Amino acid sequence: MDILVINSGSSSIKFQLINMHNKKVLCKGLLERIGIADGIFNYESHDGKDKIKETRDIPNHRVGIKMILDVIQDPKAGVIKSLDEIEGVGHRIVHGGEKINTSVLLTEANIKLIEECIPLAPLHNPPNLMGVEAVKSELPNVPHVGVFDTAFHATMPEESYIYGLNYEYYEKHRIRRFGFHGTSHQYVAEKGADILGIPRDQFNCVTCHMGNGVSFTAVKNGKSFDTSLGYGTMCGIPMGTRAGDLDPAILLHMLDNLKMSTKDVHNQIYNNSGLKGMSGLSNDMRDVQKAAAEGNKRAELALEVFAHAAKKYIGAFSTLMGGTLHAIIFTAGIGENDIATRERICNGLEVLGARIDKKKNDIRGEEKIVSTDDSRVKIMVIPTNEELMIALETHRVAEESH
Ligand code: ADP
Repeated sequence: MDILVINSGSSSIKFQLINMHNKKVLCKGLLERIGIADGIFNYESHDGKDKIKETRDIPNHRVGIKMILDVIQDPKAGVIKSLDEIEGVGHRIVHGGEKINTSVLLTEANIKLIEECIPLAPLHNPPNLMGVEAVKSELPNVPHVGVFDTAFHATMPEESYIYGLNYEYYEKHRIRRFGFHGTSHQYVAEKGADILGIPRDQFNCVTCHMGNGVSFTAVKNGKSFDTSLGYGTMCGIPMGTRAGDLDPAILLHMLDNLKMSTKDVHNQIYNNSGLKGMSGLSNDMRDVQKAAAEGNKRAELALEVFAHAAKKYIGAFSTLMGGTLHAIIFTAGIGENDIATRERICNGLEVLGARIDKKKNDIRGEEKIVSTDDSRVKIMVIPTNEELMIALETHRVAEESH
């Protein structure tokens, strides 16, 4: 049986259909510019034989979902004979707040809980829910499961998620660390444990998710113990366009003395900082690397600041786990592909017992141990696969609910 995985954004829907017997992707696609002129419809079957890329009018998510369900069972381009082959649908949902701490069936009650989290993820939860509603109306008789970016971090202890604020802000307003990219952290942590032959519930590692968004997680005994993103998606290591950790005094100074509006401050710290702001060039790591190699000083500085912050988190997380680390795992666009950044971050981690092997590290997008044979802590590259994780979770929850 197959699981349909849906990642619904405000103007886009990504999807994959996954065969749960062999865990292979049967087909995948991306609909863009939903609700805007010149919508784009992308579809590809597993063998790459059937590819569609065309401009289509996609006025809303319902129409988009119908297009997806039509193409996957299309006699020519499709990969299944009928929608009966779909065992369940897994929906990526960004925020489950404090009440949802695992993947759940999308019952009316659980959808209400997701709606209550809209203030915490105003840009993500509403379009995620639009996708749920649209697919549910087309496929009402199969289980729909929500898989949450925040859920993996629900195991963090209080000392990791409570801020040093007056406790009332937690009690009254639920201001606390939530953490994100949980599906990715969980996937690579489980995969890392399996590769090293260590039981998942005894595995300690730091997972380094480095894409446009960046977050590192301390995984202790297979569970999230602490993570670098917090209440929102701004803190921790600098990202493509986001600043990462900032002294809040800077924000007050911007508001009070530089007379910037909250909108301007928001725009600066979310859209104009990070690699883009520091280098003055681009949020794309490839551009920053290229410029640094050509002698651009600010690009070089951006790389150093990035690696410095990354090292700091790895060191801190390793200490929190009592120095019992089995592995440091790199994943997502930069983590999987950027050889130089991995090397820059790992230089100096010998104090933790982690020694990178430059030759082994000379790979992109491959699952591999890139530390020296005598390195006590293994350094690993594991391509993330959030869609497969969502499919596995959906299958598990659907089975349990029978
Ligand atoms: P998203 O968070 O949008 O899913 P990705 O995981 O695709 O992001 O990561 C995007 C980042 O990965 C960009 O900064 C991009 O420059 C970087 N990246 C992709 N390929 C390479 C590469 N070959 N070398 C260095 N960086 C890369």
